[in-house]
Amino acid sequence: MAEAKPTIMRAMVLHRPGAPLVLEERAAPEPGDHELRLRVEACGVCRTDLHVVDGELPDPKLPIVPGHEIVGRVDAMGPGAQGFSIGQRVGAPWLGKTCGCCSYCLGGHENLCDDPLFTGYTRDGGYATHAVVDASYCFPLPDEGDPAALAPLLCAGLIGWRSLKMAGDARTLGIYGFGAAAHIVAQVAKAQGRRIFAFVRPGDDAARQFALSLGAVWAGGSNQGPPEKLYAAIIFAPVGALVPRALSALRKGGVVVCGGIHMSDIPSFPYSILWGERKIVSVANLTRDDAREFLTLAPRIGVDTHIVRYPLEKANEALSDLREGRLQGAAVLIP
Ligand SMILES: [Zn+2]
Ligand SMILES: [Zn+2]
Repeated sequence: MAEAKPTIMRAMVLHRPGAPLVLEERAAPEPGDHELRLRVEACGVCRTDLHVVDGELPDPKLPIVPGHEIVGRVDAMGPGAQGFSIGQRVGAPWLGKTCGCCSYCLGGHENLCDDPLFTGYTRDGGYATHAVVDASYCFPLPDEGDPAALAPLLCAGLIGWRSLKMAGDARTLGIYGFGAAAHIVAQVAKAQGRRIFAFVRPGDDAARQFALSLGAVWAGGSNQGPPEKLYAAIIFAPVGALVPRALSALRKGGVVVCGGIHMSDIPSFPYSILWGERKIVSVANLTRDDAREFLTLAPRIGVDTHIVRYPLEKANEALSDLREGRLQGAAVLIP
């Protein structure tokens, strides 16, 4: 019997942090036990990809195909992969696999797993025409609609959602860094009746206008204080100096939620701005329950993602535009 010809895939590959991604052709891997192979329709570009590419996160698998906001169609199924069918549209996020047996996994905190795999960091991701993912860590997506518009939901949306939950029932919410995650979480928070105060890079008037267009009641530079004390603040910008600024903007009992995976050092600050039972917390990864909740909620609210498309081959350009703050909304690669 003649052997079936392997599927050839294209991928943008990182060989060494700090170096540009390289376009490569290779045989697409066959899905293993409980895995799916996806034909990628779109993959979002997240700030975490920048941290991987720039070498700010330790020990990536190298070479690595970045990308963890994957929208694709099931192209092949490994033995034991259940709950999906060939041709179905699914999404694959950052959390690629967990051990299922550490104290965190057993305690309902799989986002903190001691032995996880992360898509586009410790297992190959979606800057490619094909990606192999664990079926248990994928989610069905609507068959209709623009795949590129769905991609940012899979990390910017999910991390934003987990950050928003950490903010509790805050009725006024500061958002520092108005990029992909903020533009989604602002829509959710507004739909929940919260008032949004947006903090952007001082002088970035386009970002200020963007925040106002998404329903922020106030938008100003991150060097400014808000017109009233806030119940909570979420920081998406990877800038440690924003932590004391956000703390100073809080009323007593308020919380600062750090929504990014990496941040520059936090400068020292007077205890008085933490005093009054203010809190600082970080958000680490996400659970599959976060994903199920948010992917159900987003279409109900009618979350409208603002995307900038790049062909797969232009991944380096998309990353530079994100690094330099030239993007409004979310960058999405189209293979
Ligand atoms: Zn675990
Ligand atoms: Zn991400």
